[in-house]
Amino acid sequence: MLLPALREEVLEANLELVRRGLVLYTFGNASGISREKKLVLIKPSGVPYEEMKPEDLVITDLEGKIVEGDLRPSSDLPTHLILYKAFPKIGGVAHTHSEYATAWAQARRAIPCFGTTHADYFHGSVPVTEMLKKKEVAGDYEENTGHAIVRAFARTDSDAIPAVLVANHGPFSWGRDVKTAAHNAVILEAVARMAYFTMGINRNASAIGRELHDKHYLRKHGKTAYYGQTKEAK
Ligand SMILES: [Zn+2]
Repeated sequence: MLLPALREEVLEANLELVRRGLVLYTFGNASGISREKKLVLIKPSGVPYEEMKPEDLVITDLEGKIVEGDLRPSSDLPTHLILYKAFPKIGGVAHTHSEYATAWAQARRAIPCFGTTHADYFHGSVPVTEMLKKKEVAGDYEENTGHAIVRAFARTDSDAIPAVLVANHGPFSWGRDVKTAAHNAVILEAVARMAYFTMGINRNASAIGRELHDKHYLRKHGKTAYYGQTKEAK
């Protein structure tokens, strides 16, 4: 069996989405990539999570050709592949229809950064894609969803904002590995929920100031990050 360790990681990330309440039935999917081998490992299509085993995951190349696996890959595979090609630093992708993030996606509204929870993970508002055109839906729909995501990041750093809302659909998130991609999906849902309540309390709530935003993001992610433990201190 190819990539046994990555199989465990990808399965675990998919199960994490379920444990955190982000996934109903078989909605949602997470994938991981071996950049070295140029192989992608993704959840199979339509298999219940509680029955999923590492060997059920499907390995494809970057063109979506199955390299190992008896089951069909998740139908969203082409979206994942576009993201892996466009965002060279990412090692994992997660997609859910989690309730609050999907509500923002359906409203076609970017999630403003109202506070430090958001600022810790996303260095700006979480963008929403443009709606797909009729012909984009009719042909190569999942691939075109990927292109719409990439277009939404034309002037936005996909490493600094590792998530997006696909208009009228739901969120995709990513990270340096599949565990981080799933973690970012969980945080995105929490942030989407809080932003929803913030606007319920004050429709005119304004985004966090740049200074506080930078402070929180950069203390975790910047070159001079100091949040958490250093490797030596662990
Ligand atoms: Zn979906």
